[in-house]
Amino acid sequence: MGREAFLRQHEQRPSARYFAAVDGLHIDSKPLLSVAYGYQYPDRGPLSVRYFSGGAEARRALSRFGYELVELPPESTSVVYGEVPDCPPGTAFEDRREAYEAGVHRTTQAGIAGQADGTQSICLSDGYSDDRIQGDLISYTGFGGRDANTGRHIADQQLVKGNLGLIENYKLGRPVRILVKESVLTSKKSDTEYIYLGLFTVTSWSWGIRDGWKILIYQLRAVSGESLAPEEVAAALVRGEDIPTQRRRSNINRIVRNYDVAASVKRLYDNSCQICSTRLVTAAGPYSEGAHIRPLGIPHNGPDTMENILCLCPNCHTLFDGHALTIQSDGTVVNLGEPFGTLMVDPEHRLNADHIAYQKKISTAKSHPAT
Ligand SMILES: [Zn+2]
Repeated sequence: MGREAFLRQHEQRPSARYFAAVDGLHIDSKPLLSVAYGYQYPDRGPLSVRYFSGGAEARRALSRFGYELVELPPESTSVVYGEVPDCPPGTAFEDRREAYEAGVHRTTQAGIAGQADGTQSICLSDGYSDDRIQGDLISYTGFGGRDANTGRHIADQQLVKGNLGLIENYKLGRPVRILVKESVLTSKKSDTEYIYLGLFTVTSWSWGIRDGWKILIYQLRAVSGESLAPEEVAAALVRGEDIPTQRRRSNINRIVRNYDVAASVKRLYDNSCQICSTRLVTAAGPYSEGAHIRPLGIPHNGPDTMENILCLCPNCHTLFDGHALTIQSDGTVVNLGEPFGTLMVDPEHRLNADHIAYQKKISTAKSHPAT
């Protein structure tokens, strides 16, 4: 539910310095213990904070449950999106602790630093081999569902905490800080430093299947002028060169959208939505959007061609990219399992059935039943 909501619901005051490290999150230590006590002894209710003195009591109590108590400087506890002071893209850190203290990635364990209402940063490190880098794009797999020892997926990933937060970022266009372990870029185990790449935006998300379980896949793109392209940094490291720390534009492998193709599709339908028939007319003329059926870029690699583009109104486009709408093989459109309409297709518009099936697959991934 997030920190604010938790404190509000339980009428707790925020901790100033002492936090419990739980699943990579920092949770106000006394409120956590107080509320937990209330759950264990409903007849007594939450433990009053006057029973705690300083951090020592909380530390003892937390350690009995196997949690670590961490002391944070007061100014570090607020959630910061976007750039952090004195830390340009390309800044290298000895270890996770150093990156933590600089404010780049405010957790020393988890890959995602975020909550249900937003994610501040991601750290790519060795264990997560599903993550891929191409040009200024990163394909990132959400957290959860893995065996801690083998890294294999043993359960479905869930749309919760930082996984859900990344989708909030996607909706709002809010950037995420990316920290990457050098060895991920160079494939050399001996490279143990961490490099801050800068700010990335979440350009799409979808479901996928790994080892038979549902995973969440996010596509992140380097924000021009606010980040370094991961592939360029990797190339510099492999050549033994210094990483350029100055801000710069990167252009390699950027997806160049062919707006003419989308324009042709929109013209074919006179800007009417292929799903709901809505035709918006603005002061600047009719408005519609070209929606890619199979998303562009890694890991989906959909083509920028007419057979992969629909003409949609902004509402249907949002529902389609948000994996609420899917198109069945008979052309009916389903919205979160409920009938929604029928896709209108002009005889001149040859759609690729494989791309439509692909969009349906990444919108409604089904894992094998839990054993
Ligand atoms: Zn529509």
